[in-house]
Amino acid sequence: MTRILLASLSAVLLTTLAGPAWSQAPAQPAAPAAPAAPARPAIETRKVDGTENVYIFRNGNHQAMFVVTPEGVIATDPVAYGKPTGGQQYVDEIKKITNAPIRYLIYSHHHYDHIAGGKAFKDAGATIVAHKRAKERLEPLKDPNTPLPDELVDTNRTITLGGTSLELTYVGLNHSDSTLVMRLPREKIVFIVDLLPVARMPGRGMIDFYPLEAEDSIKKIIAMDWDRLIPGHPDAGGRLGTKKDAEQQLALLQAASAEMKKMGQDGKCWDTAEKEFKLPDYASLPGYEQGLPFVARRYCGLWGRGT
Ligand SMILES: [Zn+2]
Repeated sequence: MTRILLASLSAVLLTTLAGPAWSQAPAQPAAPAAPAAPARPAIETRKVDGTENVYIFRNGNHQAMFVVTPEGVIATDPVAYGKPTGGQQYVDEIKKITNAPIRYLIYSHHHYDHIAGGKAFKDAGATIVAHKRAKERLEPLKDPNTPLPDELVDTNRTITLGGTSLELTYVGLNHSDSTLVMRLPREKIVFIVDLLPVARMPGRGMIDFYPLEAEDSIKKIIAMDWDRLIPGHPDAGGRLGTKKDAEQQLALLQAASAEMKKMGQDGKCWDTAEKEFKLPDYASLPGYEQGLPFVARRYCGLWGRGT
């Protein structure tokens, strides 16, 4: 009896759900036929070309690297800010690839847009690792979705798991005061978040940006042994960065700093500098116009104020 009732109910539900969609749709004016670009899925996982076990997980406009080994997974950045199920979706994507446990979750730095959602990894048994200052930053905020790190890095640490090594290096103050550079020495791949956008203008945020120290950090990173860079945002169509891209960002920051130094000393910070600041050599970079006032503001914090 119950079974029959359930079957009838299912039939009704199915009929309702499968009803003609157009029947309730408002009338639409005829639109000119245009070839629709294929929509980018909200979530995407892809293996990095030329590697056996390095993956990029993207959620919206943020992305993270994870490495699969026979003894477990090393994941980075949950990238689930404002996405309550994002951490679990990332865990689920990993589970589609391997049954090995998620052993580590590394926070690239303390900014929530990259590390909110770590709870799903903690619940899955991962040990969370971050720079020591990330813990100091996160502790007062007490976000239930973003657990504090279990283990802290001061200047460097190498995680070795299932035949893969991942080096974590603190190269100093830069985009934040807690940024870890992650390097896979065998694959010659680095994962660096926000400090080195690939072929785009730096943008919003970075209120805790350290302009002069960032240049030093980038020089140290360029001196490391790597060929490809996975950024924290899928810039430049999602391609990986190169040392040439890192050199371009360094040159851009140096040019911005020199220009803003003049404005700061001419007394133009903040409002006038934000309006007048231009970097014509970089005008073709995506995000150029939107990024200009943000970049100007950061350097006013240095040249217009003193540190
Ligand atoms: Zn950040």
